[in-house]
Amino acid sequence: LLIASRPLRALGNLNAALQEGLAGLVRCFAVADERPRIVDAPGAVTLPPGHGEVAFEDVYFAYPDGRAGLRGLSFVARPGLTVALVGPSGAGKSTALALIPRLHEATAGAIRIDGADVRAVTLASLRDAIAYVGQDTLLFDDTIAANIRMGRPGATDAEVAQAARAAAAADFIAALPQGYDTIVGPGGGRLSGGQRQRVTLARALLRNPRILLLDEATSALDAESEALVQQALIELRKGRTTIVVAHRLSTVRDADLVVAMADGRAVEQGTHAELMERDGLYSRLVKTQSLLQ
Ligand code: ADP
Ligand code: MG
Repeated sequence: LLIASRPLRALGNLNAALQEGLAGLVRCFAVADERPRIVDAPGAVTLPPGHGEVAFEDVYFAYPDGRAGLRGLSFVARPGLTVALVGPSGAGKSTALALIPRLHEATAGAIRIDGADVRAVTLASLRDAIAYVGQDTLLFDDTIAANIRMGRPGATDAEVAQAARAAAAADFIAALPQGYDTIVGPGGGRLSGGQRQRVTLARALLRNPRILLLDEATSALDAESEALVQQALIELRKGRTTIVVAHRLSTVRDADLVVAMADGRAVEQGTHAELMERDGLYSRLVKTQSLLQ
């Protein structure tokens, strides 16, 4: 999924450029060409085993057009715990997630997983350790079973079915005439949004990554799908480190640590209760319900 997001982003840029006209298109490719290719460092090693501690140490990152994505971000996600990133639009939350699997490269500072600088380990082992579930869940025009199995090619039918059960997807799949052999259509269009999300979660469960990155959906699912997705997420978060860009108060309340971001850095850190007492950025976001944007 992560690897697929790179061409996707390029498509997004292209789409924006087409809307702007030719000048935009030229600019788009100029920017794309400037972007350094991210490859394994000489002597890169396999990510050492660990329980999934993720540490941001004074991380800076600027996009090729000069816009700052991160400006000195520091926080630690302890193994097995959940960190919620909150903050106004443009604060750098999605950028922070993208730097962990090295979709972008930090310009200063370091991101460490279980002590290892992400720049010193192989991309393959790094991305193996991470599952990313984004807002737009992308399915391939293949069967449901094939879409889930992408999480771990070689998984047995029983393992695929078990992942679907844990992701609260087994019931809707069983109700389809073709079951696991149902072709989902281009982009997964034959399934509802909530069904697509649960298939993506089943795929992530099958991978059993030590780190889970979630960009929580802002668009509302129907109430039943929402409840099922939340149930699947509880299952998925068990025993792994989760960093979630959170838009729902319920997600933030459940997090072990809340990192309130603005202008590319952490302005406040603590539990929901601690930050509510502080009466700063986080409590303002909650009181004005800006989390839901
Ligand atoms: P958030 O997820 O908190 O809304 P982002 O990480 O998307 O914030 O964005 C942080 C900053 O980086 C913003 O100023 C945004 O405009 C900029 N930015 C994000 N993506 C790109 C991009 N592809 N190219 C240039 N600037 C970007
Ligand atoms: Mg974002």
